[in-house]
Amino acid sequence: MINHNESFSNIGLNLKATYTQLPEILFSKLMPISVKDPKTVVLNNELSFELGINFSDLSSKDLSNFLSGNTIPSGIGPFAQAYAGHQFGNFTILGDGRALTIGEQSTPKGEIYDIQFKGSGRTPYSRGGDGRAALGPMLREYLISEAMFHLNIPTTRSLAVVETGEKVFRETPLKGAILTRVAASHVRFGTFQFLAAHKDIDAMSKLLDYCIKRHFPEILDSSNKVIKFIELVMSKQIDLIVNWMRVGFVHGVMNTDNSTIYGETIDYGPCAFMDQYDHKAVFSSIDFKGRYAYGNQPATIHWNLIRLAESLLPLIDKDETKSLEIAQKTIDSFSEIFNEKWQMMMRSKLGITDRSREDEVLIKDLLTWMQSKKPDFTNTFCNLMDSNHAKDEDFEDNDFVIWKKNWKERVNNNDYLNIMKKTNPILIPRNYLVEEALAEAEIEGKFSKFNELLVVLSKPYEQLDIDEKYSKTPQIQAEPYKTFCGT
Ligand code: AMP
Ligand code: MG
Repeated sequence: MINHNESFSNIGLNLKATYTQLPEILFSKLMPISVKDPKTVVLNNELSFELGINFSDLSSKDLSNFLSGNTIPSGIGPFAQAYAGHQFGNFTILGDGRALTIGEQSTPKGEIYDIQFKGSGRTPYSRGGDGRAALGPMLREYLISEAMFHLNIPTTRSLAVVETGEKVFRETPLKGAILTRVAASHVRFGTFQFLAAHKDIDAMSKLLDYCIKRHFPEILDSSNKVIKFIELVMSKQIDLIVNWMRVGFVHGVMNTDNSTIYGETIDYGPCAFMDQYDHKAVFSSIDFKGRYAYGNQPATIHWNLIRLAESLLPLIDKDETKSLEIAQKTIDSFSEIFNEKWQMMMRSKLGITDRSREDEVLIKDLLTWMQSKKPDFTNTFCNLMDSNHAKDEDFEDNDFVIWKKNWKERVNNNDYLNIMKKTNPILIPRNYLVEEALAEAEIEGKFSKFNELLVVLSKPYEQLDIDEKYSKTPQIQAEPYKTFCGT
């Protein structure tokens, strides 16, 4: 339903749909499918303030109608985006099967963000799906994406979760919900792959210019902007994955449709933070071969970047061989850049500011010990920072004690603790606490644990005066932690 009423005219919505000026192959304009009885269960006031939107004068009914897509204020034209992607290595034509972007909001600071409803009903790209989402996975996305934001990791954010008052049918009937997601943009590696598959080079050139204008205006007039674009996307993605490695985050479904051009973490389906360190940590119930395991994330993003560069080949040079040569050279620089940034991140985790060749050995020795003993990842670094909660038995191990003595001799600067405190979180979304909070919300309809966890995770680097359960090493469970794609 389009709503022309006054309620929405003063809340600060400042939406454009510049994406719909691109060639039509890239999107479909359509309205959300209304839901029975929407009720807002989480609202991110801090984020709405940053977006320049003020919901406080809306009645709770108007608010829920807006955030569920039941009421679309006049002047707004939602659209679903088309894209493709390699899912676990297999190429598929996809698209927003259950999401609609309602527009691009200009913020008071002059930034532009897509505002998107996830779970808003079927679209031309739904394939066999129902276009809907369940409450648990949407709350999970809200919680983890906000935790990532406060960990200073590029990410899409979450503005709200609305229960729809309808059931969605998965293995069992579940409460339906719609998440409002906010992103720098939703252009994915797979958006370029989609145009390459359709051999629509004209549209690809227009999409490239669109992305450059929106994200990398500094290369607009560059003579080799395609290569510069690949380099910038690569740089953003390297920064992103290095950050994931820093906090022990396992995304779980790094398909090329889940890698964005602007390098934000997107699609919090089967993701998890590892407790015990394991290079091979994998949580997703469908990742049988560990393709997207913790330690495979750098190689995976490299693979995804090759798929992006391949798609862009026709824009690099008319001569195919020449294009390939140029692209190859850019992509070949990945490992060196990644390694450099990863080493730098690891040195910061250890409070080392200057650089010495021996550091590589120091880092390697620590990780080798961690792989064999499997201590808590987060708390290993908290132990080095002398945090009270990180005194696990594991850290009395002789090899670790010797390593720690060497390390202490190496960190000869006075500032090492300050650097470590900015790099090593004390609080991460512990899997069992996330599950407890989601279960309480889904089953009992109570949000106290969820809201408490949100507050705690908004200051992950601070030694807060809170219950130790949030920071101490969780008990090892008999069954390994498993996550599921949030469909
Ligand atoms: P994801 O694994 O969340 O990245 O989703 C992969 C693709 O499946 C995307 O194109 C989604 O839009 C689509 N999809 C996921 N769940 C549904 C659903 N319930 N109905 C329609 N499309 C869906
Ligand atoms: Mg996805």
